[in-house]
Amino acid sequence: MRALGFDIRIALLLAAVLGVAAGCSPRSEPLEGIRPDPDYSGRFRFEFQAMGTDAALVVCAQDPRSARRMIGPAVEQVRTVESLMSMFRPDSDVGQLNAAGAQHPVRVSPLTLRVLRASAHFSQLTGGAFDATYTPLRSVWLKAQGAGAFPPEEELRRALASVGFDKLVLSDGAAMFAGEGMSVDLGGIAKGFAIDLAAEAMKGAGAQAALVDIGGDIRVVGRPGAGESWRILVRDPRGEGQPPIVLRLSDVAVATSGDYARYFSVGGRRFSHIIDPRTGWPVQDVPSATVVAPDATTADALATGISVLGAQKGLELIASLPGVECMIMAREAGEGEAQGPTRLYYSKDFRTLVE
Ligand code: ADP
Ligand code: MG
Repeated sequence: MRALGFDIRIALLLAAVLGVAAGCSPRSEPLEGIRPDPDYSGRFRFEFQAMGTDAALVVCAQDPRSARRMIGPAVEQVRTVESLMSMFRPDSDVGQLNAAGAQHPVRVSPLTLRVLRASAHFSQLTGGAFDATYTPLRSVWLKAQGAGAFPPEEELRRALASVGFDKLVLSDGAAMFAGEGMSVDLGGIAKGFAIDLAAEAMKGAGAQAALVDIGGDIRVVGRPGAGESWRILVRDPRGEGQPPIVLRLSDVAVATSGDYARYFSVGGRRFSHIIDPRTGWPVQDVPSATVVAPDATTADALATGISVLGAQKGLELIASLPGVECMIMAREAGEGEAQGPTRLYYSKDFRTLVE
């Protein structure tokens, strides 16, 4: 189960990885859990569960032993991020910060501090559309979903007063909230950060070509063969029936936020699990946003952020960021309560990445 309390439907995030024949050396016997890729010789694959979803590490290696040497440290990094940053573990940094951060500064690990600082950066960059302190709103909507009715405006207003990255005080080695009722959820960025640490760990262990996939968010390292790029399949946001979109990537990351994977309904309306920290309302008009960026932390945070910003503001933001591209599916404004038809929007060079 993915780690959120909403009544969630889980759809498969199709992000299968095909890659191209790598022309690495011949195979020998696999070590436990690490399998030679059946389709590509010289490529090894390790699948595991992490951060409430499916994860896979792929590496080009001479033999299973060197594959294991590269994959082992990467898995460890993912486990570290999980144990520090899950809001559902009371003993994690985030769990402890949420429990006591309004009373006193709470010591957190350097890694958690890095992600909190990155969150502050993306909060600023998106004008508050991405904001990991949105969590009091999450509680309001969880309750609304349970009750089957929209929350009273007063309740949203009260929750909004406890939202805002400017009210999270970060110092050397510690974090604290400026007021009561605050909490953080790093669910919109920690996965990307874990992917980056895993990719760096594989590089550090000597990997020339590797791929990290956590729940369909992916970072690729190097090239799978001389002059080749990785083939990454992204689910077409227009839904069923549509063939996946094939991206050709090297040394970048791609992340998708979408309400096809996780959503909830109140009063017959469908809402994303992403909440707009400026209005207090869940996102309704952006069923999917895919971001390609130099690193996965950026791609993950921006995919969440532009889901909130919507097509026009989202495209403007992405156009201002070098090396970042996006594809946004957004609903046109409907009449009254009705939701209009969807359209796909692309940043300037997104199509150059499509096969
Ligand atoms: P996933 O890939 O797990 O679906 P996303 O990258 O789409 O996640 O981010 C959604 C998650 O981000 C939510 O489940 C929640 O944990 C968190 N989140 C929701 N709204 C916001 C927001 N406005 N700013 C930052 N994080 C958010
Ligand atoms: Mg995200």
